[in-house]
Amino acid sequence: MLIEDGSIKDILTGELPPEFKSDDVLTERAAYIMPGLVEAHCHLFLDGGELDFKKRSEYLKADENEMLAVARRNVEASLATGITLIRDAGDKWGINHRIREETAASDELVPEVRSPGLGIRKPKRYGGFMAREVETKDEILAAIKDLLKTGDELKILLTGIIDFETGTVKGKPQFDVDEAKLIVATAHDLGYRTFAHCSGLAGLDVAAAAGVDSVEHGFFMTRDILEILAEKQIAWVPTFSPVHFQWARPEIVGWSEESVDNLRRILDSHSEHIKIADELGVPVVVGSDAGSHGVRHGSAVIDEIKFLVEAGMSMAKALNAATSLPRRLWGNTSADIKPGHKVEIIGLPESPFENPAMSWQPSWVMMGNDSITL
Ligand SMILES: [Zn+2]
Repeated sequence: MLIEDGSIKDILTGELPPEFKSDDVLTERAAYIMPGLVEAHCHLFLDGGELDFKKRSEYLKADENEMLAVARRNVEASLATGITLIRDAGDKWGINHRIREETAASDELVPEVRSPGLGIRKPKRYGGFMAREVETKDEILAAIKDLLKTGDELKILLTGIIDFETGTVKGKPQFDVDEAKLIVATAHDLGYRTFAHCSGLAGLDVAAAAGVDSVEHGFFMTRDILEILAEKQIAWVPTFSPVHFQWARPEIVGWSEESVDNLRRILDSHSEHIKIADELGVPVVVGSDAGSHGVRHGSAVIDEIKFLVEAGMSMAKALNAATSLPRRLWGNTSADIKPGHKVEIIGLPESPFENPAMSWQPSWVMMGNDSITL
């Protein structure tokens, strides 16, 4: 690969042309190379590996320096797994914006961070740790204008979270269709995309009707909703990981047998709908919700790729969902390995097509003119 100013100039095979001196040559070897991975949904300020509930809730009172330290570790762990582009999904302390600035100014090889800052939610509804409260139409408009002064896109808390004991979503949607349409139109007028935390049929109906750009989580999906997502090309970031962790380690929360059954049913239905989404042409994007209980930054993205493949998606499409597709949807420069594109490449010791069960630990990451060996 001939690299000039951080971009791929040409891809050659065979002997090194004589005009190149060995000093110009950077030798990195790998069985398989691909564009750096994209994490489409995580919370950088939260440590998903912290399993103790008391410590997790005490942490929300931690000072800024402690949160920044946690976020820096999460960025490092992401890079060590081959993630070169991260979209944060909200935090009320603005750690995501701070980390975005830090990484952008860094001389070291670090992932690029996209950050919404805070999201918007209705008063007293779900999302206290990541969203600003808005009630009236004027408050909604003012908040969007203010948040998009610094946010890379708008995060909407459209529904509550799942109640695993009953296997349903808590409460009715936070915003109705008219409000959601206003939110999306306002963000679009300002030139920004929207992504909506949303699970359960009532919320999914609103998200689909309002035409948000991306449905995050999307548990309790249906074929009817998927048909609208396909038609409007609304992305779906299914974030299997937080629910999968609850199912795999029920003793940590103390889930009843009935709740474990609910968790399994929810996951199975999620998988079935990924298959349908794939067939219908819905843009499914890999995001893990890392930072959630039991969901570690970095490795969770690999888990998400595996969940898509287990659901019946081809490896090529699952990798596309974690590389090219999100970059295209968000308007980021392509990192596909072709002349003219930027260099953002990871080298794997094995091909995922030959061995999906491999470690997925990259041997090196190359970004622009820099590379690091892991
Ligand atoms: Zn989230």
